[in-house]
Amino acid sequence: MSVLKNQKVTKNINIIGAGASGMYTCFKLLQLNKLNAGERQFKLNINIWDKLPVPFGLVRNGVAPDHPEIKNCIDTFKEIFMDKSLYQDNNVKFVGNYNFTKMEEYEELIAKSDLLYLANGCEKSRDYQLENSSNLNTLKAKDLVNWYNNYPESKNISQIWKSEEFWSKIKNINIVGNGNVAFDICRLLTMCKYDKETINKSDINSDFVDVINKAPLKKINIIGRRDFESARFGTKEFRELWGLNQYGVTGYINPKYYDHDMNIKKPSRALAKKIQLTKKHSTDVNNDKMKWELKFLQSPFKIDDEVKKLYSKENIMDVNNPSKAISTDKIIESDNDLVILSIGTENPHLKDYEQLIAKNPGKVKSVGWLRNKGFGTIANTMLDTFDLVERDYRNLDMSSNQHGNELQDFDFLKINDKRLVSWSDYEKIEQYEQHIKRGKKCDNLEEIMSVL
Ligand SMILES: Cc1cc2nc3c(=O)[nH]c(=O)nc-3n(C[C@H](O)[C@H](O)[C@H](O)COP(=O)(O)OP(=O)(O)OC[C@H]3O[C@@H](n4cnc5c(N)ncnc54)[C@H](O)[C@@H]3O)c2cc1C
Repeated sequence: MSVLKNQKVTKNINIIGAGASGMYTCFKLLQLNKLNAGERQFKLNINIWDKLPVPFGLVRNGVAPDHPEIKNCIDTFKEIFMDKSLYQDNNVKFVGNYNFTKMEEYEELIAKSDLLYLANGCEKSRDYQLENSSNLNTLKAKDLVNWYNNYPESKNISQIWKSEEFWSKIKNINIVGNGNVAFDICRLLTMCKYDKETINKSDINSDFVDVINKAPLKKINIIGRRDFESARFGTKEFRELWGLNQYGVTGYINPKYYDHDMNIKKPSRALAKKIQLTKKHSTDVNNDKMKWELKFLQSPFKIDDEVKKLYSKENIMDVNNPSKAISTDKIIESDNDLVILSIGTENPHLKDYEQLIAKNPGKVKSVGWLRNKGFGTIANTMLDTFDLVERDYRNLDMSSNQHGNELQDFDFLKINDKRLVSWSDYEKIEQYEQHIKRGKKCDNLEEIMSVL
């Protein structure tokens, strides 16, 4: 239906996922609508849904607790709900505690929306084949991150690997995967051992700090399948790892990985910096402190029966494909008490989402980690999302949506008995965390809901 002159055209927009990409999507839409206020007049009805009762996704639950500066983007996200000059007379709602699991729910949203953004990230740890691996000798990085970051979970599940007894036997850890998450884990485990007081000032889980502090950790290997020059870790995260030497903790990288003629014309600035840092700090000394080591060109494939060794195949880089590693028959052994798999995450429903997008061109979009298959920093996520949303906004037509976008307008909510969480509810949760939990985030779903 077209509208009379000066009357605002109503557009219904739903965003599934209130992490960085969902929030930046909403922020950009509001910003564009404000900037274009004199031209085409839209009233945006936006719902940002999340399965958790708390927003911000990995910014809250992934980013390391001692990196508050990275979480500053939350201030921008809050403007969506708190800055009248941004949201103006648009209608924006946070709808927490609703998990979209059925195709019918997505289809109803699509039918009633002008735009549906899938911003639900990549939450499942990728599978990795490791012989003899069990939940007593292998942890997923995501589980460990969720623990130290107080990811809200039901507390009815007891997890043996979070106990002091489990960690009392852990001296040698092998982290498989050498991205920034592996570095965060290595750094935080080390800080819990040597600087409990400082790390506990952050919103890190205090039980995690206490348990790790008592563990007899000696060595952490971080193992990557490709060569030094192909590794994806960031320079900042690398520098922070070397910074552990302030506690007497040494890091080592065998010179064969970096001190050779690299098969590239000119190293990038980032690579040159990484080599420079390594040459400056790498040392293979034995003292009574913990050590960490980066190992390259290895693919772990088996834990021995006694869980004392991790076996890896040595790799070489494929001459025809410089980003691919190929395993050889040469076996390398590492001392081992625990393996942590840090090989990234994926969305198990990606194929279904791709079908929804293909069936609804121009209307259903993916953003953020779902779009980029689990890669990208918050800054990349923001730039990518802004770019996409700008194009979508420009393409909005001048017909008004006749469907409602209020909660009572959705049939799937009529059979839902879960308590939905609004932005003002979230503010109560935040207050509770600040005052009652003394700045620590609440990891207990039942406790969170009891605040409301
Ligand atoms: C451990 C870790 C540390 C990181 N550290 C940094 C860092 O230091 N600096 C940096 O720049 N980047 C960092 N990143 C990357 C950064 O977190 C991502 O770039 C960014 O958070 C991606 O945002 P997203 O919105 O796409 O996904 P997410 O943040 O994962 O948001 C997805 C949201 O969707 C919700 N959701 C999922 N499924 C459903 C469903 N079915 N129904 C409803 N809601 C659903 C989830 O609850 C979540 O809130 C880190 C990532 C990880 C994993």
